[in-house]
Amino acid sequence: MIQMEKSVTAALLETAEKSVLYTARRPGIVMERGEGMFLWDTEGTRYLDFVGGWAVTSLGHSPAALQEALSRQASTLVHASPSYYNKPMIQFAELLTSVSGMDKVFFASSGAEANESAIKLARKHGAVNMNGAYEIITLTNSFHGRTLATMSATGKPQWKELYAPKVDGFKHVPINDLDACFAAVTNHTCAIMVELVQGEGGVHAVNEAYLYGLRKICDMYGMLLIFDEIQTGMGRTGKLFAYEHYGIKPDVLTLGKGIGGGFPLSAMLTKDKYDLFEPGDQGGTYSGQPLAMAAGYAVLQELLERNLARNAAKQGSYLVNGLHELACDFAISNIRGKGLLLAFDVPEGAGAELAAICLRGGLLINSPNPSTIRLVPPLIVAQKDIDEMLHILRHAFNQLKSA
Ligand SMILES: *Cc1c(COP(=O)(O)O)cnc(C)c1O
Repeated sequence: MIQMEKSVTAALLETAEKSVLYTARRPGIVMERGEGMFLWDTEGTRYLDFVGGWAVTSLGHSPAALQEALSRQASTLVHASPSYYNKPMIQFAELLTSVSGMDKVFFASSGAEANESAIKLARKHGAVNMNGAYEIITLTNSFHGRTLATMSATGKPQWKELYAPKVDGFKHVPINDLDACFAAVTNHTCAIMVELVQGEGGVHAVNEAYLYGLRKICDMYGMLLIFDEIQTGMGRTGKLFAYEHYGIKPDVLTLGKGIGGGFPLSAMLTKDKYDLFEPGDQGGTYSGQPLAMAAGYAVLQELLERNLARNAAKQGSYLVNGLHELACDFAISNIRGKGLLLAFDVPEGAGAELAAICLRGGLLINSPNPSTIRLVPPLIVAQKDIDEMLHILRHAFNQLKSA
């Protein structure tokens, strides 16, 4: 008998199972290449990407601007050490602070680290200016990251017992309930930290009156208002920053995901008034790393030059209209979100099945919980991509119905 040679993909998957820790349920494909709105796997199958690397690949896959910036920087200086300034660090810091309405920035590599920095800054503020206050109020169903402190800040019910004991000093209150937040404030509270649209939590926005109230509470007690815009920032919601929808400014702003367009990069920004860290209080080997800085600068310049925030608003409303049309024929409800951070509900338990059917149809979508589908495509998405996406989704719903 002739032994059939294993396909390259099957061999890769076998190796993956043997050598990669099982921390995520992944489909049996291996991604190999990306361009614009598309990814290709090792079998050559093309996928239209409405996951966007989890709201990361804002300029699409392998955009020319990022390729060019990275290769230019790689041939000049890859890493100098956080002990020294480098040119792209200074240039990006200036650009980012000037567009964000903040004064100063600390750079890191992941969103969780940016939030850790915000938590540390809030505690420093508590220590220096508020008699040692250290408690931070966050929201139920919020998501702030996967380090121990940011997991404690996170309001995911499934994480309550995970990796106990929790880091102390976080209180969770329900979203859009100002009385609950007010009641949670004590003389130990130094900050309130919120996402303006809860992303991982299923795309739920804070309302204007609530955010205005949070600003008031913080001003009243001298507490820091921290906006975690790791998912909502950098054009995702149709404005460069989601706080622009509300006209309410934070004292501390954290950014991640889309800021590097796929290169690991995050930032924690604040006002001069809260420039409280002293040398040694906060740091990191890759803080202000030249490649990351060059990537961030190139991505932001592209976002601004091509006004991709406006494209996010425009294509987002086109996509929402298409979803409303689909909702006439299928069990789609609660279509919600801002710009290109969108979600809708499907019958309980159908989320993962729908995502799997779409994958087989060449479309990547994300189901953050069993009854929700979240759509976070690259900000370069065009009408024709949305038409194709809606076509595959319609087909998937038909299959779901007959299942
Ligand atoms: C993704 C996310 C984080 C964590 O970012 P990582 O880069 O995964 O550490 C924190 N906050 C929000 C709102 C996020 O969406």
